[in-house]
Amino acid sequence: MSNIVELRDVRKRFGSLEVLKGVSFSVARGEVVALIGQSGSGKSTALRCMDRLETIEGGEMFVCGHAMHTGTVDLAALRRDVGIVFQGYNLFPHLTVAQNVMLGLRLVKGKTKAEATQIANAVLDRVGLQSKVESYPEQLSGGQQQRVAIARGLAMQPKVMLFDEVTSALDPQLTGEVLRVIEGLAKDGMTMILVTHEMDFARRVADKIIFMHNGVVREQGGPEILTNPGTEELARFVAAA
Ligand code: ADP
Ligand code: MG
Repeated sequence: MSNIVELRDVRKRFGSLEVLKGVSFSVARGEVVALIGQSGSGKSTALRCMDRLETIEGGEMFVCGHAMHTGTVDLAALRRDVGIVFQGYNLFPHLTVAQNVMLGLRLVKGKTKAEATQIANAVLDRVGLQSKVESYPEQLSGGQQQRVAIARGLAMQPKVMLFDEVTSALDPQLTGEVLRVIEGLAKDGMTMILVTHEMDFARRVADKIIFMHNGVVREQGGPEILTNPGTEELARFVAAA
């Protein structure tokens, strides 16, 4: 299968609340997809299902070849293939920047300290934080902390990176530095799914826009759909953004 991620009629409910009501879309290798839609439309839930933080209840979902609709997902292998970054950075406060990045390499990938140090230096360089390796998270700005979280994900050499509103908690200047890092990854060919409210960024960086509304994909297409929406719902969403 050439698609890195594929959802076919995916369903998910929380109690009586049906959150994903038959969601279908695909993400090819090297593609950058922006997942947009109103708060509550199911974007985070869709993303969390891709990393098996939630299980799906209907339909089929393939992530890096893992069949998520079956009961036999190899979680360790899945987590090696999928990097996920959230709005909150979830860094360990008592560990340095370098140690935060190295932790997964040591525990999950079984790298030696020397190997892990080398990879950590390389990914921290990539996000522009080579000078902060010995710093602790509290000594960094929010934007720098978020870049550490991205570096930690990259260090695992995932096949796909998922970003859930990673700039929502940041002021405009810090947002810019994080978006530039993501844009650099896009240029390098990283497969990515970005849940974002940054419409200008989505228009510029995404190959494909997926607009969710009330638990379904209401519209999808190239970035031009943000300029020429085909549905009333997307037109309203873009106008309000
Ligand atoms: P979005 O990311 O688009 O804002 P979410 O996927 O976070 O949307 O949420 C979709 C709906 O599912 C919301 O109504 C939310 O309150 C609900 N929801 C999300 N997670 C849970 C959960 N663990 N338990 C119950 N309801 C949830
Ligand atoms: Mg969300």
